[in-house]
Amino acid sequence: MTFTSPLLGAETAGFYRDLVAAGAGRVADRIAAADRPFTGITPDRLAGEVAAVDLDRPLGDATAALDELDDLYLRDAVYFHHPRYLAHLNCPVAIPALLGEAVLSAVNSSLDTWDQSAGGTLIERRLIAWTAGRLGLGPAADGVFTSGGTQSNLQALLLAREEALARPPAEETLGRPAADGALGRAPARADVLPRLRVLASAHGHFSVVKAARLLGLAEDAVIEVPCDRDRRMRPGALARALDRCRRQDLVPMAVVATAGTTDFGGIDPLPEIAELCARAGVWLHVDAAYGCGLLVSRRRHLLDGVERADSVTVDYHKSFFQPVSSSAVLVRDGAVLRHVTYHADYLNPARSAAEGVPNQVDKSLQTTRRFDALKLWLTLRIMGADGVGELFDAVLDRAAEAWTLLDADPRFTVVVRPRLSTLVFRYTSPGASAAALDRANLHAAAALSASGAAVVATTVVDGRHHLKFTLLNPRTTIRDIADVLDLLAGHARDHLGDDLAHAS
Ligand SMILES: *Cc1c(COP(=O)(O)O)cnc(C)c1O
Repeated sequence: MTFTSPLLGAETAGFYRDLVAAGAGRVADRIAAADRPFTGITPDRLAGEVAAVDLDRPLGDATAALDELDDLYLRDAVYFHHPRYLAHLNCPVAIPALLGEAVLSAVNSSLDTWDQSAGGTLIERRLIAWTAGRLGLGPAADGVFTSGGTQSNLQALLLAREEALARPPAEETLGRPAADGALGRAPARADVLPRLRVLASAHGHFSVVKAARLLGLAEDAVIEVPCDRDRRMRPGALARALDRCRRQDLVPMAVVATAGTTDFGGIDPLPEIAELCARAGVWLHVDAAYGCGLLVSRRRHLLDGVERADSVTVDYHKSFFQPVSSSAVLVRDGAVLRHVTYHADYLNPARSAAEGVPNQVDKSLQTTRRFDALKLWLTLRIMGADGVGELFDAVLDRAAEAWTLLDADPRFTVVVRPRLSTLVFRYTSPGASAAALDRANLHAAAALSASGAAVVATTVVDGRHHLKFTLLNPRTTIRDIADVLDLLAGHARDHLGDDLAHAS
């Protein structure tokens, strides 16, 4: 297949159709044939091949380029559809969403302004309203699609920062003159900014700390709230932390509760946290990047309390089986989105807002922005929300079964019973030192991945290396899990044996 013209247009529409079908065909072949989630290729082996490509000498031929891509990428890619991919929060993708992906990139709408997207803007708005409805955020709710949970958390915390800075000083500090000498008026930003604090548990996502730095907060702005044995934020500890802030003349800017922590799938006690936030007048952000799939599941009750949040992060590209990127930030009071509204004469002049032109750039940190919402739209229109929920419920059922299996297995200790779909566990062996077990667990994960037979993750709990499964594939069977445990135990045991042989 050679090019008559490389640009999509009326005369090349047929060529476009054939070419994209050829690309989809290559992927379909790889997906159909993959007997492992990964080939175990190492970066140094692949790096040479990628480096050897002369980017200044095009192949000029699509078939040749696809052949090359097959060698450089498709052959050794990590395939999340495979039932033994058990590592991170990557999902097998819903085919209706892939249809959306094909459509949205070819039409190439940009969701910043109405005049670059038309119906796309309205579809995105419907999905934001739908999600806000499922969350129960009330009639004034709004939000916008983002590139991912990291960006959603950043935007939510930016809004919380602006709200905190706009607020008059708390009553107990009213007697004192504010920086500008006036009473009861918002003090100068520079005076308050270093005193802003964000309260989150140690199991909250690292993007919260990153956001705090990007937002110019103090280095120690994120306060760690202690957790209970299930790694969920303790409301009593949060109450004390809020009190301590007040006593130290610090300004709690937001509490970040997590609905689905990345390691343990823990859901912080949202109703109790919401009550404390309401009483203290503190912004509540709920990071439901992972747990958002509960919105369509028969376990919706696990998110009870989320309706009281000021902002919520949802990652459809995790528990809604959407391809990357697909995420949104939702807010209870749509008016707060004004904090990210800036006008440019050439793009979204202030007059267009007054005229009611729906320009999504007024609500977003991005300017040019993909129509990712289309993927969710086609997913809901073709398979429906219940269809998505059934997939997530199947995953959660499997995780519960896997816990039973692990809990009864003397080769492993398992940390907490899963709320969602992660399992954190450690290979153990009587008489082996903790340090030797650390090495054995790390080796087991690495050796397994190198073999390509399965991919699992590792994490650290209480200073010790652990293994981790993140289940997001309803096709993963309990047999897959049992087999992977046997493989892990085998690698760990071999390594312990070598370790002992070296030591003696
Ligand atoms: C994945 C995740 C994020 C980050 O989301 P990205 O889409 O990867 O940027 C934030 N919070 C939690 C709890 C997550 O699981």
